[in-house]
Amino acid sequence: MFNIILFGPPGSGKGTQSENLIAKYNLKHLSTGDLLRSEIAAGTPLGVEAKKLMDAGQLVPDEVVVGMISSALDANPQVNGFLFDGFPRTTAQAEALDKLLKLKGTEIGVVLALEVSDEELVKRLLNRGLTSGRSDDTNENVIRNRIVEYKNKTAIVADYYKPFDKVKNIKGEGTLDEIFALLSKEIDLRLSAN
Ligand code: ADP
Repeated sequence: MFNIILFGPPGSGKGTQSENLIAKYNLKHLSTGDLLRSEIAAGTPLGVEAKKLMDAGQLVPDEVVVGMISSALDANPQVNGFLFDGFPRTTAQAEALDKLLKLKGTEIGVVLALEVSDEELVKRLLNRGLTSGRSDDTNENVIRNRIVEYKNKTAIVADYYKPFDKVKNIKGEGTLDEIFALLSKEIDLRLSAN
């Protein structure tokens, strides 16, 4: 199995690039944002609680998202690998993920970190808000809060993987094809070294 973390701030293009990457490398896409939005759509108690935090631009508690990821890993025993999108977002989540993958005899192969400037992020998210139907994309204060949460709690997650030489920074500005080529090149490199 080859498992990838697509890392980066909100609006850096993780969702879009994930769609292309899972098709090319035949991976199972696990997006905690999508899993949470399914819970909201289904009106589950978890979804109701998560929505309050998401609409304020805050993170959902670690145990909630770790539980969802654990179930998703168990539900997909026969895959080439997982592409994690929007997870892990805290160091505690990264540690929990390591343990879960270890139980399955596997590990993270590479962390691909998309880099995009703050102003470009805000522009992209407000633009996405025009069509995404996501309430957290329509209010600039909520968007800026998400970026602050990213800087305070998530950016350091890259440091967790650095000692293992697993992090590759990728410029997340340019055309979709250019960014996809950079991501693919790095994955191919790591796959051939495996
Ligand atoms: P974006 O990358 O644009 O912020 P996501 O769909 O990944 O979009 O996340 C939307 C919201 O869902 C986040 O702002 C946060 O409230 C919640 N969320 C998603 N993933 C996690 C996670 N791993 N830990 C905590 N909260 C999460």
